[in-house]
Amino acid sequence: MCIFCQIASGEIPTEFLYESAKVLAFKDFLPQAPVHILIIPRAHFENTAELAAVDSETTGELFGAARELATSLGLDGYRITINTGASAGQSVLHAHLHLLGGRPFAWPPG
Ligand code: 5GP
Ligand code: ZN
Repeated sequence: MCIFCQIASGEIPTEFLYESAKVLAFKDFLPQAPVHILIIPRAHFENTAELAAVDSETTGELFGAARELATSLGLDGYRITINTGASAGQSVLHAHLHLLGGRPFAWPPG
């Protein structure tokens, strides 16, 4: 089972900041900003493109969860990052969205 499936199943005890039938959110264990939250589908998909191909509702809920979390945390600006594929820096092959906030972000990204 992949590491995020182990988190989703409860095998790795994790505090969830957002939880629904299809979606979970939890803190990244190597935060790149004061707020760094991972938002994932409970079901295993290799990346968000694979998820979006078959389940647009859950794909949309990932963004809805990001909006709710950003609002509840009082973020006035934030960045959502989705690394897809090794060349884009994806290291965990379970679909996820990064919600980053609490500091300014540069553009273009690295
Ligand atoms: P990616 O590089 O695939 O876009 O992002 C994977 C993210 O998952 C990284 O930011 C990494 O720090 C985080 N991560 C990897 N393993 C774990 C884990 O077991 N627990 C948590 N909370 N975060 C993890
Ligand atoms: Zn998985």
